Amino acid sequence: MLDPQDWQAFRALAHAALDDAMAYLEGVRERPAWRPVPDEVQARLAEPLPQDPTPLQAVYDEFAQSIMPYHSGNIHPRFFGWVQGSGTPTGALAELLAATMNPNVGGRNHGAVYVERAVIGWFRELFGFPEAASGVLTVGTSAANLIAVLVARTKILGPHVRETGVNIEGGRLIAYTSSATHSCVRRAFEVSGLGSASLRVLGTDSLHRIDPTTVARMIAEDREIGNRPFMVIGNAGTVDVGAIDPLDELAEICAREELWFHVDGAFGATAMMAPSLAPKLRGIERADSIAFDFHKWLQAPYDAGCLLVRDGELHRETFASTPNYLTRMPRGLASAQPWFTDFTLDLSRSFRALKVWFTIKEHGAKRLGEAMEANVRQARLFGDLIDANEAFELLAPVQLNVVCFRYRRDGMNEAELDAGNDEIVIRLQESGEAVVSSTVVSGRRAIRICIVNQRTTDDDVRFTLEAIERIGNELIA
Ligand SMILES: *Cc1c(COP(=O)(O)O)cnc(C)c1O
Repeated sequence: MLDPQDWQAFRALAHAALDDAMAYLEGVRERPAWRPVPDEVQARLAEPLPQDPTPLQAVYDEFAQSIMPYHSGNIHPRFFGWVQGSGTPTGALAELLAATMNPNVGGRNHGAVYVERAVIGWFRELFGFPEAASGVLTVGTSAANLIAVLVARTKILGPHVRETGVNIEGGRLIAYTSSATHSCVRRAFEVSGLGSASLRVLGTDSLHRIDPTTVARMIAEDREIGNRPFMVIGNAGTVDVGAIDPLDELAEICAREELWFHVDGAFGATAMMAPSLAPKLRGIERADSIAFDFHKWLQAPYDAGCLLVRDGELHRETFASTPNYLTRMPRGLASAQPWFTDFTLDLSRSFRALKVWFTIKEHGAKRLGEAMEANVRQARLFGDLIDANEAFELLAPVQLNVVCFRYRRDGMNEAELDAGNDEIVIRLQESGEAVVSSTVVSGRRAIRICIVNQRTTDDDVRFTLEAIERIGNELIA
């Protein structure tokens, strides 16, 4: 009913679309890093529900004219905003193939399940996790962090918490993390029913890392007043400045105090693939769970994250259920236990693993690691250029692939600096030359660049800083 009437014609259109897509990626550097969606395009897209068919060619033409030109920028070599991977052409191809197979990877016995298991196995190996560790691909690290909090909750309260829910009669459960931790961790506490009051947010040192001594002291204080410490969340790459918490020391505290040690390694954890960066992550192999993304520094197209849990059985006990309509069988399609749905919130799940599998097989961990090392060098270069330029000031040491800085001129007060730097970020984006984002570091408005971009060259880095300086100079002129 919905398949093409004329496969020949469909095939021709599909080939043309694929050619357009590859030309689009090949020429990405020549186009603006970002451009706003014009009002008339926004209006055209907000049409009412189409009741009648439109010829596919017309639908495609509309896509090509009204949608494709307005990408969010992250595919461009001079995109440094937030933490966004750039993707690869192979990733796009893999998405096409995954959608062609269109499996539901909630479970059962078919190829996609074994691909996801293979991908999880690779990362179990990378992080030195045992065979009994479980893993599941997620939308991203936000979802992976939430699942980790839920598994840690099962650990301290037992699987019957699924029935009884959380109550604080036996003492409030307390987790520890730093003020540099991503906001999705707080949200995980909010939606898990633990409440954000269960998350103790501790200050950081001059390198924006958590202080293990403070963690240990707070645990002791909490125990004394009848709270129940249960979890520590360390960062392998904080979102604002790319700091790595002292993971080994946190692991030590957690082992001693019998707390769950979770690592949010959204982008930083995958730096384990880079020999020069892996030592910075020492201690990650001792975590009870690690959340990380494929769609950031590993360049898989959106979306794809992952959670690994050392105690796979506990992970399963947190989610597994078998309603009648999901009865498992020893053979046939309903076999191949355990099913991924037993480890996550979703039943229906896409074949996310394929783009990760393609990316890692095509390039290998070594080359992917080299791409990360290149980004770290570029961040250092950017930092050095800033240090050498009186028009700029670094707002945090460059530790990984993130640079936070601001434009400044003598006589500008703090309010003018904040407003001026925000304006620079906006004008740069609007110019289409590059994309950077804004944050606040130690109370000061910062321009932030985060390089998780396999297309970036050193020249892109220089060009971007020059553009920022030019815009800053225009602003104060
Ligand atoms: C991006 C990021 C997250 C959130 O991950 P998503 O994949 O966007 O859900 C969490 N923590 C850190 C450190 C991040 O950089």
